[in-house]
Amino acid sequence: MIGELSQLRDLFASRRLVVVSNRLPYNPSRTSRGIRYVKGSGGLVTALDPILRLSNGLWIGWDGGTGPPIKRKRVTISEPEGEGSYQIRFVDLTEKEIGHYYYSFSNRTLWPLFHNFIGMSHFNSTHWMTYFKTNAYFAGTTQEEANPSDIIWVHDYHLSLVPKFIRYQNPDLRPYFFLHTPFPPYDTFRVLPWCKPILEGFLGSEKIGFHLKRYADNFLECVEKILNADVDRKRGVVELEGRKVKVGAHPISIDYDAFQDMAMTQRVDKRVQKHRKRIGDRVVILGVDRLDYTKGIKERLLAIERFLERYSKFRNRVLFIQVAVPSRTRVEEYRVMKKEVDETIGRINGRFTGEGWPPIQYIYRSIPREELVAYYRLADIALVTPGRDGMNLIAKEYVASQVDKKGVLILSEFAGAAEELTEALLVNPYDIETVSETIHKAIEMPSAEKRRRMEGMQDLGRRKDIYSWVRDFFEEVA
Ligand code: ADP
Repeated sequence: MIGELSQLRDLFASRRLVVVSNRLPYNPSRTSRGIRYVKGSGGLVTALDPILRLSNGLWIGWDGGTGPPIKRKRVTISEPEGEGSYQIRFVDLTEKEIGHYYYSFSNRTLWPLFHNFIGMSHFNSTHWMTYFKTNAYFAGTTQEEANPSDIIWVHDYHLSLVPKFIRYQNPDLRPYFFLHTPFPPYDTFRVLPWCKPILEGFLGSEKIGFHLKRYADNFLECVEKILNADVDRKRGVVELEGRKVKVGAHPISIDYDAFQDMAMTQRVDKRVQKHRKRIGDRVVILGVDRLDYTKGIKERLLAIERFLERYSKFRNRVLFIQVAVPSRTRVEEYRVMKKEVDETIGRINGRFTGEGWPPIQYIYRSIPREELVAYYRLADIALVTPGRDGMNLIAKEYVASQVDKKGVLILSEFAGAAEELTEALLVNPYDIETVSETIHKAIEMPSAEKRRRMEGMQDLGRRKDIYSWVRDFFEEVA
């Protein structure tokens, strides 16, 4: 990390980094000593926080609306002392904008469509109009704050029109863009009534990053067919209105060393031992997700049920721990899904508890990083089985935390991470029979094979971490 950071230092010490995303990295929270700004735990925040500090940078976004209202436009983040500082600039959203732009168009139109769940995508022109205006508002705020010498980095599907708006408002500003979800194939994307302006929005960028080459290829095909633009698919270049836009694949990763170091601490060790005392020698199977229908939680539960049906000798000898963080609870599809998950867990536990233990332990909340790492280290098997996922960081976090190298990763072939973590046991999450069989295979796997597979994945994790992701994305930027 130190090496990567010093390389990034050269670039960002001379050019200020301005990040634009839906959510800010710090959330305001009221305490007895006034308002404090609490750092979010996401991968992007972890990666960009140190870079923004060394660059004296700026992060523009919404505060999530859960904390106290903030009257100031900007706040300087200077804690911890001695690590540099940067500013956050608030984008205030009205209730209507939060409803239409965030919960509806972003999360009920683009999110399902980009994940290939067309049937769950809602198309509503009023929501589109608010999305359009809110993106213009984010761009206006960026234009107000940024200079032509800044490196402006816009993130994700909530803000797909922002690069074009920024350039339109000030042609001297040069935004970069990264999409953190998959980009769907042409036949899916063209269903969106506003597919053309969305592509044009992306193309306001100097460069567009995707996690996988496949997503970049899908995007290029859409640009070629929908916009009739000049596309060099091999080199990943689009020519439009006399400008060249670079399109590339840059798989995001995690702060590998931070996870591994934490997994080796005494505090985590103690937590693991405490869990083990409670659980005994039962096989621990772990699922960790935001509660989202793309994560395949229901199918995973059915695979556990099938496993218990088929391999009766393992009843009472395995414990499946599902940790789920509440997500988008205002959206109907998420509420329906939560109910289904609750009912399925209740049914399976009712069916297999007998005189022993319930086979499923369900933790429905966000848990502190240290506790999460303890679960990763504890788990004999991680079941990471999304129906579709741009990347999936849980799989990478599990690998980094497996310092004892005794665990097995069962990974969906539909997660972006499957392209890199090829030593995992790859499964189709919809094939319940095969997933249940794979759980059995993982339990019976010889220790030497477990170690070999884990070491292979750890080598890659060490080489390609979150810092190398930022460096690679900006490789050609002088
Ligand atoms: P997504 O971005 O779709 O939520 P990812 O797998 O890429 O999925 O990232 C999820 C992130 O959220 C990980 O960094 C993980 O550590 C964190 N996370 C997921 N579930 C929990 C939880 N229950 N408690 C705390 N953190 C969680």
